[in-house]
Amino acid sequence: MPATPDPDPVPLDRVPLVPEPLVPVPRPPAADRFVYAIPMRTRFRGLTVREGVLVRGPAGWGEFSPFWDYDDEESSSWWRAAVEAASDGFPAPVRDRIPVNVTVPAVDAETAHRIVLGSGGCRTAKVKVAEPGQDVGAEIARLEAVRDALGPGGAIRVDANAAWDVPTAVQRLRVLDRAAGGLEYAEQPVASVADLAAVRRTVSVPIAADESIRRAADPLAVARAEAADVVVLKVQPLGGVRACLHLAERVGLPVVVSSALETSVGLAAGIALAAALPELPYACGLATAQLLTADVVDVSLLPQDGAITVARPAPGLGTLDAVRAPDDVAERWLDRLARVEALVR
Ligand SMILES: [Mg+2]
Repeated sequence: MPATPDPDPVPLDRVPLVPEPLVPVPRPPAADRFVYAIPMRTRFRGLTVREGVLVRGPAGWGEFSPFWDYDDEESSSWWRAAVEAASDGFPAPVRDRIPVNVTVPAVDAETAHRIVLGSGGCRTAKVKVAEPGQDVGAEIARLEAVRDALGPGGAIRVDANAAWDVPTAVQRLRVLDRAAGGLEYAEQPVASVADLAAVRRTVSVPIAADESIRRAADPLAVARAEAADVVVLKVQPLGGVRACLHLAERVGLPVVVSSALETSVGLAAGIALAAALPELPYACGLATAQLLTADVVDVSLLPQDGAITVARPAPGLGTLDAVRAPDDVAERWLDRLARVEALVR
């Protein structure tokens, strides 16, 4: 597979939600570590190709795919999550369907509308805002289009990825709340815990903490400062399903489980967390397999009627072959993994 992204991706509405099964190519059994490289459908988080390592252990497959802005030290949590999946497996589920949101990147209104309609029946949309170079008019148009596609019964949340300062957040959230016909919550409108608390005291839109949890030295600071109404938990950056369950218990706020744009192997860990949480009042951000042009399993973890059925699909030999990373990419990842592994030991 070429390392360069597909220059002319197939429009979202013409891509089958479940990848077509590939004819298995006879090969020796897959190694215990497999590096994948999969082009994204739309540029997301600055990425055009998603890469990572799948590891196989006695309990199944795990995924190690920290973004490159995570250093080796930070990446050790991602490795713990992969080891948990491969060595221990997941705790028992208490539900078998996970309601999920469709994610709408910082695209134009027409595209936003199409993404929501093609989302597999999602009743909640998470809309990216605060994109550099875009003005509030683009955000209003995007939110109006999403509301139109969802109808009055749907829920809309926005994610600013910590891009605003407090005055901008307060002003924008009031405008965007109106444009959306009511926001369910705003995810990480500002960077610091103190600023989150200030915004939360000023606007009526509920606040969700994401970066303040997963990249913080003290993830409990958000709860102590009463800086959020909801916390977003991601399995890999927080060190595994059990670590997240423990954190959720200590934080004492409603949890939204989100992905780190993994393949369905990594998504299965998020699904396992969402399935094991005692309460799950919000739709989760786990419908992200559709942001990739391919997957490592034959049947991806994708929503039907707005929810993903709890499952743990295993990679297929033929499927893996189609997403194998080029040698230089694989080498870079296995080197990284060796460094991180040395830190964890
Ligand atoms: Mg976020």
